[in-house]
Amino acid sequence: MPLWEDIGAAIEAATGTAASIGHQGSVGGGCINQAQRVQYGATTYFVKLNTAGKADMFAAEARGLQELRSSNTLRVPEPVCWGANGESAWLVMEHLAFGGRGDQAALGEGLAAMHQVTRRQYGWVQDNTIGSTLQVNTPMDDWVGFWRERRLGFQLELAAHHGHGGRLQLQGEKLLAAFPVLFSGYVPPASLLHGDLWSGNYASTVDGEPAIFDPAVYYGDREADLAMTELFGGFGADFYAAYRAHYPLDQGYAVRKKLYNVYHLLNHLNMFGGGYHGQALGMMDSLLVEL
Ligand code: ADP
Repeated sequence: MPLWEDIGAAIEAATGTAASIGHQGSVGGGCINQAQRVQYGATTYFVKLNTAGKADMFAAEARGLQELRSSNTLRVPEPVCWGANGESAWLVMEHLAFGGRGDQAALGEGLAAMHQVTRRQYGWVQDNTIGSTLQVNTPMDDWVGFWRERRLGFQLELAAHHGHGGRLQLQGEKLLAAFPVLFSGYVPPASLLHGDLWSGNYASTVDGEPAIFDPAVYYGDREADLAMTELFGGFGADFYAAYRAHYPLDQGYAVRKKLYNVYHLLNHLNMFGGGYHGQALGMMDSLLVEL
């Protein structure tokens, strides 16, 4: 198969090891891409596949994995190579053997350490994707402006393009106008974020080490990562206790987390439509009544 020959050649160029690609098994659980477990000589790799036009998306994911790895906190698979031929794009990374949900306290402690890696500006060196939606990361000095322009405002505009006008946009406008109140006196550090931290994007290795993967990396308010862990569930009490013990939360998190999760709900509305409309609107309504 030409695709696997091309991927084999890319692995050889990246690793200097010549071998042929062996067993391929599908891996389930992903939302966006096709995933395969692949044998290359003595090494097992995890390969994500999509159409050729998604090559930039994989390049950004690879760079995000490297950024998370360089924090030396949680386990993150090492990207090996990424590229595309005429039909498909691929991202080859270290394969991790997973087994269960693992040590929640270690995950919380590791995330707290990761969030203590900071930069001067909010954003990142490149744009990436949140799910399959563009996530703009052009750096800014001001977190409130960043969240208004690059996050909430961006998703609201996209929703308008998708035909979601009416009350959703009205409430969205009200929310944007309320930012000075919502963020009054709050200037978070620009922390290294996973960016898409739902329960499907962490696992424990068979050795019990917590690992995170499939990121949408940028530097921003750590509360945005924590908020997302609460949005769809799947993180245990020990995770939150360990996180808070190592990096206590600031006052006002309970309100801001809703604002941060509106971003993800709007993104889900933009990607999947339908049912997320009510959920996004409900979250906006509940925020606005608290002001
Ligand atoms: P998608 O981008 O399609 O959402 P993911 O990156 O979330 O795909 O990967 C899909 C599934 O594959 C994950 O839920 C996880 O179980 C598994 N997985 C992800 N990365 C690795 C890896 N490096 N090694 C082994 N399994 C992995």
